[in-house]
Amino acid sequence: MNIGFIGLGNMGKGMALNLVKAGHKVSVYDINTEAVNNLNSKGCVGCSDLLTVVSDVEVVISMLPEGSHVRDVYLSENGVIANANKDALLIECSTIDINTIKNVGEIAINKGMRIIDAPVSGGIVGADNGTLTFMVGGSEVNFNSALSILSDMGKNVIHAGELGAGLAVKICNNMILGTTMIALAESFTMAKKLGLDQKKFFEISSKATGMSWAMLNHLPVANIIETSSANNNFKPGFAAEMMLKDLSLAQNAADSVNISTPIGLKALDMYKEFINQGKGSLDYSAIIKLIEESS
Ligand code: NAD
Repeated sequence: MNIGFIGLGNMGKGMALNLVKAGHKVSVYDINTEAVNNLNSKGCVGCSDLLTVVSDVEVVISMLPEGSHVRDVYLSENGVIANANKDALLIECSTIDINTIKNVGEIAINKGMRIIDAPVSGGIVGADNGTLTFMVGGSEVNFNSALSILSDMGKNVIHAGELGAGLAVKICNNMILGTTMIALAESFTMAKKLGLDQKKFFEISSKATGMSWAMLNHLPVANIIETSSANNNFKPGFAAEMMLKDLSLAQNAADSVNISTPIGLKALDMYKEFINQGKGSLDYSAIIKLIEESS
């Protein structure tokens, strides 16, 4: 297929290359020309503006930082909705607020376009290796149209419901991840203070009811599991500032439906404090430093 891909950062780069590997013609655009040139040399067709990247493609995919970028890219005069083919399928993969995708979606659908939200889980490794999990919101028909393309970039592609439902899943999921990481960090700090060997604590708790995905994959303590960023001075992985963004999205979503999520709110405050210390570019599991320092 002819695909236009917008946003070639940590995630978008690997996703676009996996589409090339699967045999698609992939035109790419990013405001960062270095990112465009890099992919141009690896089999993509580099474009110097938005208008060119969406011209005559069957599918548009975007992987951008925040809702404001998505609104710019889709709604501006040179943007996707004004210039893409009327029957183009729009696949928005960024982690953003639900209102933005619903507003952009309404405008796209009124023009006769097809659109889904398809945020991802699996990080940079998943993007590079084509093993992402996609959580998809949109009509059944649009989901089915996108399935094969999403499968070229991921190993799990799951339909969550109507437009915005993919983001609702992503936001709730990451509130679990952020709060779980803090619980892990507190427990491993306390275990050490109580005189336990942290490795022994892991050995037992990982086979008991304290076990979680975060414990098995992102343990905030070094030299116990292979995939811990603590082994690497908390080089991300998934940066703390990204977790702050996701926890902020979670609180906005909670407010929008009048639900109180005090643990999610506390996690947001702790990540804010950590990032105000200038540590936002460390992995989100480095939040353990905040707990160790206050102990
Ligand atoms: P990133 O900042 O590395 O990449 C975003 C890219 O978008 C950058 O290259 C930037 O130049 C480009 N961009 C910004 N505005 C643009 C515009 N107007 N037009 C064209 N390009 C523009 O971010 P990332 O890590 O690739 O994350 C992208 C999205 O995926 C985010 O919403 C993030 O929350 C989500 N996500 C990230 C991870 C992760 O581990 N990094 C995991 C899951 C989901």
